[in-house]
Amino acid sequence: MNDAFAPRLDVEKIRADFPILNRDIGGHRLAYLDSAATSQRPRQVEEAMREFSEHSNANISRSVHTLGAEATEAYEGARSRVAAFIKAPSADEVIFTKNATESINLVAYAMLAATVEKGADERFRLGEGDEIVVTQMEHHANLVPWQELCKRTGATLKWIGVRDDFRLDIDSIDQVITERTKLVALTHVSNLLGTRNPLSQVTKRAHAVGALVLVDAAQSVPHMPIDVTEMGADFVAFTGHKMLGPTGIGVLWGRAELLEAMPPFLSGGSMITTVTMEETTFAAAPAKFEAGTPPISAAVGLAAAIDYLDNLGMDNILHHEKELAAYALPRLEQVEGLHVIGPRVPIARGATISFTLDGFHPHDVGQVLDSDGVAVRVGHHCAKPVCSRYGVTATTRLSAYVYTTTEEIDRLIAGLEKVRKVFS
Ligand code: PLP
Repeated sequence: MNDAFAPRLDVEKIRADFPILNRDIGGHRLAYLDSAATSQRPRQVEEAMREFSEHSNANISRSVHTLGAEATEAYEGARSRVAAFIKAPSADEVIFTKNATESINLVAYAMLAATVEKGADERFRLGEGDEIVVTQMEHHANLVPWQELCKRTGATLKWIGVRDDFRLDIDSIDQVITERTKLVALTHVSNLLGTRNPLSQVTKRAHAVGALVLVDAAQSVPHMPIDVTEMGADFVAFTGHKMLGPTGIGVLWGRAELLEAMPPFLSGGSMITTVTMEETTFAAAPAKFEAGTPPISAAVGLAAAIDYLDNLGMDNILHHEKELAAYALPRLEQVEGLHVIGPRVPIARGATISFTLDGFHPHDVGQVLDSDGVAVRVGHHCAKPVCSRYGVTATTRLSAYVYTTTEEIDRLIAGLEKVRKVFS
């Protein structure tokens, strides 16, 4: 690590838990700077899932046999582990899904169901004159489901813009969020800009007008301490594979009272109390929202990932990434023709940094970097509207995590000089 860097994480020790980081890519050691897309998994996560598969694999909540009981205990234990990690008042408020996208769709489809159902809770019902508010910096996962919901219900989609300094136009929230707003859905941290949004101002305004708030925390839960009660949201969505966990598992946290009032998204087995040929009564949350066999071993892996993160300390992780951002930003800006598409001040952002390089397409940049073993993401990052806002079609994005070193950032910057040589 560089001298100017004040580490709180023992990064070399951490790296030893991630065998993939020793991979050789075209004669170079892998520098994995794409954790915002998906993070790598430590041995401990793989081991927890293997142990479950080799000793306790069975379906949950159905069997009286030993394996069934162990699998149920492991799955429900994982739910409690997630609840403690995000400081949820109850494990029953934690719903396992496939990913953050499904978590967000779960709420959108529940609102659609409420809209067509007689006697459903008014807070979820939508019609002409009602409004849903998002921001201009949303990942498509937190934009398209709301566009679709508005199309189907006659509600109107509005958004809070982003300013020239890549931050939310917070001064406009009183105009955008009004008595007509039924739901505000916003990201905590932008996956493209790296901007961290001032949630409390938005949730206060939303609740003052009686609107619900859903926070897309896919890019914040992996990187900082989260307390869902303090956050003031009604729903929080995130995804396991960006927080050292496996793919195939996501989380929706919701306030107990809302989950009780909300209709289910998917229906079928495991989410019922009684079924006749004529009708069905639903189980209480979280079962009501988990129809069918859930991702049991992925839940076990997610719990192990949370143990790993907690052992490192979420405050230390946040600090590490702030230091990496503070290290990377001034160095990137010294590269001729490079423009950071995101806040310059480390305080308002994490260590996910997008940039353009005059005269070079991000795909070319990404390819040259890959030839040096440096893995970055290039493209629109599933956030096309925010690209358009800043007049770019694509960016190159580096994103750091617990295993990222300053040397890897140096390699990226050296690679950018190589791009110029290769293409000039
Ligand atoms: N929201 C944000 C901010 C993201 O960055 C992502 C993934 O990149 C998602 C939602 C969707 O996550 P998933 O693909 O796991 O559903």
